[in-house]
Amino acid sequence: MIFDTVILAGGSGTRMGCDKLLLCVGEDLLLARAIEPFVNRNDIGKIILVLRKDIFDVGRAIAERYGLSKFLFVKGGDTRSQSVENGLKEVRAEGVLIHDGARPFVTPQLLDRIVLSVQQFGSGIPATPITDSVRMVEDGLICNIAERSKLYTVQTPQGFLTQQIMQAYRMRNGCDFADDSAVFAEFIAPPHVIIGDERNIKVTTLGSYFGLNAKIGIGYDIHRLERFRPLVLGGIQIAYDKGCVAHSDGDAVIHALIDALLSAIGERDIGTLFPDTDPKYKDIDSTVLLSEVVALYRKKNYKVSNVSIIIIADKPKFADYLPLMKIKLGNLLHISATLIGISAKTTEKTREEEAIEAYATAIVT
Ligand code: MG
Repeated sequence: MIFDTVILAGGSGTRMGCDKLLLCVGEDLLLARAIEPFVNRNDIGKIILVLRKDIFDVGRAIAERYGLSKFLFVKGGDTRSQSVENGLKEVRAEGVLIHDGARPFVTPQLLDRIVLSVQQFGSGIPATPITDSVRMVEDGLICNIAERSKLYTVQTPQGFLTQQIMQAYRMRNGCDFADDSAVFAEFIAPPHVIIGDERNIKVTTLGSYFGLNAKIGIGYDIHRLERFRPLVLGGIQIAYDKGCVAHSDGDAVIHALIDALLSAIGERDIGTLFPDTDPKYKDIDSTVLLSEVVALYRKKNYKVSNVSIIIIADKPKFADYLPLMKIKLGNLLHISATLIGISAKTTEKTREEEAIEAYATAIVT
């Protein structure tokens, strides 16, 4: 069975305060990521883009990447149901998939399941069970307790036999429906549910967008320990008779963290930014270097979401210092200490020389 696909990009995205379809997810537009899974499948015929007037050119530009002959372009309506109806008018294939342009993470496996369900049962609606309990609230009071095991959230794409969903839309008589399974259920039959995909989220809020757009960085550092040097880690003085050998103060934790932060935003590493051949950095307090990286972040409009660090050393024991380190690093990064995770490990005495090693990862938006 061949399926035409209707992709809805007709809404205004008012909940975001900006046009979410034109935001970047990774290196591409959200709308492009929503279209891509449907291209180059043998079971997909035409892709019908239902576009708001002002993003017509964007939709066309995305379609040009894959060859315009696969695509049709249709104007969006005043409501979701009207937009779907405009798209359905162009469908000629036996089956149809209807998809929200704000869902950029459709997998081939999910499409396989939907297509199979339409072939077997005449419809395929991806849905995931609700994990939170749900209550109906009226005037600030809980008035109904629903049985959670029967509650699901529905996703798109939703698959149907073209004749049936078209008939359902003809019967809707101007009413607006939240999704196509609701129209189908009202006028045709209970639609068939298949297991959805947790990753197949709809971008509706700035929070969900920033989650998608996060970058990750990784950093590493190691310093040898030597007698009669101060030991500073994570900006905290540690009581021990040895300290790190370094041009700077040898704070391996902050050095790994700086590299993670620089790496996340595609900058050169700590050694390039603060060369150890420059006398300016002799014995420098590494918190000063971290503050410079924080200033760079502010200039480039990046924010640290969370940081995770591992310190590896046989001695000394760090457990008592970790809460202090978290507070210190939180203050330097201007984030809560609860967003900083630090764990300490030993090498199981597998090393010949005593050293302090640190790994750091950072999520950045
Ligand atoms: Mg270092």
